[in-house]
Amino acid sequence: MQNLLDLDASSLTAWFAEMGEKPFRARQVLRWVHRFGESDFDAMTDVAKSLRAQLKDTACVVSPTPVRDSVSSDGTRKWLLDVGNGNAVETVFIPETNRGTLCVSSQAGCALDCAFCSTGKQGFNRNLSAAEIIGQLWLANRLLGADKAGERVVSNVVMMGMGEPLANFDNVVAALNLMLDDNAYGLSRRRVTVSTSGIVPAIDRLREACPVALAVSLHAPNDALRDVLVPINKKYPLKELLAACNRYLERAPRDFITFEYVMLDGVNDSEAHARQLVDIAHQVPCKYNLIPFNPFPNSGFRRSSTPAIRRFAQILMDAGIVTTIRKTRGDDVDAACGQLAGQVQDKTRRTRNRVVPISEVRE
Ligand code: SAH
Ligand code: SF4
Repeated sequence: MQNLLDLDASSLTAWFAEMGEKPFRARQVLRWVHRFGESDFDAMTDVAKSLRAQLKDTACVVSPTPVRDSVSSDGTRKWLLDVGNGNAVETVFIPETNRGTLCVSSQAGCALDCAFCSTGKQGFNRNLSAAEIIGQLWLANRLLGADKAGERVVSNVVMMGMGEPLANFDNVVAALNLMLDDNAYGLSRRRVTVSTSGIVPAIDRLREACPVALAVSLHAPNDALRDVLVPINKKYPLKELLAACNRYLERAPRDFITFEYVMLDGVNDSEAHARQLVDIAHQVPCKYNLIPFNPFPNSGFRRSSTPAIRRFAQILMDAGIVTTIRKTRGDDVDAACGQLAGQVQDKTRRTRNRVVPISEVRE
């Protein structure tokens, strides 16, 4: 059985061509599946009966199954999705006045092991398929009751759930293609954001394959500290990362990179760190998004105090850099950034103490 959620427009057209079907048939089916969220081929009334019968024999439309649905007091909604073999991932919907943002996962677990991230602490389990990635958007639109007139509840997508999207490149790009496709979700490139911890060659590939808005998890303003907090920095240090950001901007839908910066008390939140960030902003057109650290058991870190975060932001703003402080949403249901853990079992059997002593990471 071919899961149609696994195919973007060009793959679906190719698959239809193998069956002797014309490209417009692929577009019709794509619209039914993604725009109207239909999984029943019988309901696809403008598709020829013979083709519907054939599709029933050879294809299916299957998204991951939600096993838990939590709603936060602030309206943030989190689904725990079963992806088989005891693995689960999470998808979070964040309603705001004039938009609705879906935070989508790309992997079960993550191999990159950032010091302050709960997903990283689970270790890596496996890549999600394209169907499991786009299936999160497909499902959210259905569960949130997108109406058949095509009005969408989800207006923005951020690849900021579990996993490192650029470490699952092909499947993420197939899912991005569907997000952007007018016959599918029709989102503009500016409303789709990939967040990466900084896999430099993959940033270059994304620029060629599907340049959407880019957020980079900076979290430290120098290599010594970033090596500890975001270990992929040892492979792709700041100088290379910033150069890749500038190359990306040549094709990006926005003229800046969003640098995410988690605020860790006594670790990366000093005035000196802020000044180093100002230097970085002189090298790459960027905005800073400060993320108050979201705690989880045994993380070994504390969130910077609100006045400390405000002072830090002020230094950046005084230097003329657009800086926002991310509102913590959904933390009462563990849906805030970095709290997504699913039920992925720890397959890595890491035995060492994963709590990084503050002294070790202080710069
Ligand atoms: N792997 C990608 C995207 C997923 S994480 C990346 O690292 O960019 C989305 C954002 O949440 C990243 O900036 C990540 O560093 C941040 N994050 C991780 N753990 C966090 C925590 N405990 N508190 C706040 N932000 C966290
Ligand atoms: Fe992976 Fe991102 Fe978490 Fe780092 S912050 S461990 S890259 S999910």
